[in-house]
Amino acid sequence: MAKRDDPVYLDYNATAPTRPEVIEAVAAAMAEPGNPSSVHGFGRTARRIVEDAREKIAALLGADPAGVVFTSGGTEANDLAIRGSGPARIAVSAIEHPAVLATADTAAMVPAGPDGVIDLAALREVLEGWRQAAPEDRLMVSLMLANNETGVVQPVAEAAEIARAHGTVMHTDAVQATGKMPVDLGALGVDMLSLSAHKIGGPNGIGALVLADGVEVTARIRGGGQERGRRGGTENVAAIAGFGVAAELAGRELDAFAGLAVLRDDLEARLLAAVPGLTVFGRGAPRLPNTSCIAMPGVAADTQLIAFDTDGYAISAGAACSSGKVAVSPVLAAMGATTEEAGSTIRVSLGLHNTAADVADFAAAWLALCRRVGADTGRAA
Ligand code: PLP
Repeated sequence: MAKRDDPVYLDYNATAPTRPEVIEAVAAAMAEPGNPSSVHGFGRTARRIVEDAREKIAALLGADPAGVVFTSGGTEANDLAIRGSGPARIAVSAIEHPAVLATADTAAMVPAGPDGVIDLAALREVLEGWRQAAPEDRLMVSLMLANNETGVVQPVAEAAEIARAHGTVMHTDAVQATGKMPVDLGALGVDMLSLSAHKIGGPNGIGALVLADGVEVTARIRGGGQERGRRGGTENVAAIAGFGVAAELAGRELDAFAGLAVLRDDLEARLLAAVPGLTVFGRGAPRLPNTSCIAMPGVAADTQLIAFDTDGYAISAGAACSSGKVAVSPVLAAMGATTEEAGSTIRVSLGLHNTAADVADFAAAWLALCRRVGADTGRAA
């Protein structure tokens, strides 16, 4: 298959392209010299930029702006939520992002089923056991709202009810869900929620931890008492300005984003028609409208990545690369995938720039690669 002149970006879950309005807002904020902590006019202008963005982010989530704590991204928001809460015991799911798994390194693991949905009965059992053993301990649960690899949406509101019944602090990593589905802090009933700007067309390196009313965390980074003493350091005014604009636009585009399910389903239908029995991880579960996690049996994910990159399609592997070795994705392993299957899985994640033609062309490229490398897919091979 010939390389396209115009490469197609199908990797929105890795990062969404920065919105032009965000670039404008970042540039305008960078032209303002003030420090938001200064009392003079320049400082007050910078403060206004920060507080305006805080309001936009809170509005997207139905939250109180006073609960929005700016961080350097989703990873730091997760760290602040977990380590800043100082739980004696924490339960996380086996499908969390490394940003949670590495932070909660001594956590109890709540399993997920083959459909990629976490097991609420197992969560209840863990919390019941802990409450009986240590009635006074500070307990915490951290569960993601939507998985980055499969797009599977998790029953976080139900989990939060279970957590509440056991007097447990509840955090959700909503980095992938926000902007891709309606997310409301009150409706979820969680104490804290993590966000990242670059997943919604904002700048890299800025995010937030959003606290429900009355919830507090202990600062991990101390300094001049910024962010109501929850996160020290002069605010990244320009990035925050861009984050605010991205949040406002993402909120307006939620209906359009939901429409991406049509393109996602068309992609999967094309592949399934040619390869009956093809594994699409999480297909039977509620999913984000833009994400498809697909195995090409017998073809290593990194081989696919390079081949698709050469053809002009940017996608991700369902596996993490470290020290030159492709490790099996813990998410797919938790769903019961074999090492071979997990190692041959890619993730396609769509955004509003993608068209029906992009998806049809990618499906044709996928099937052509399948035939070229003689993948073990029955009719397509
Ligand atoms: N949580 C989830 C679910 C993610 O997908 C990511 C990024 O891929 C993160 C956290 C980390 O966010 P950041 O890149 O802003 O540190």
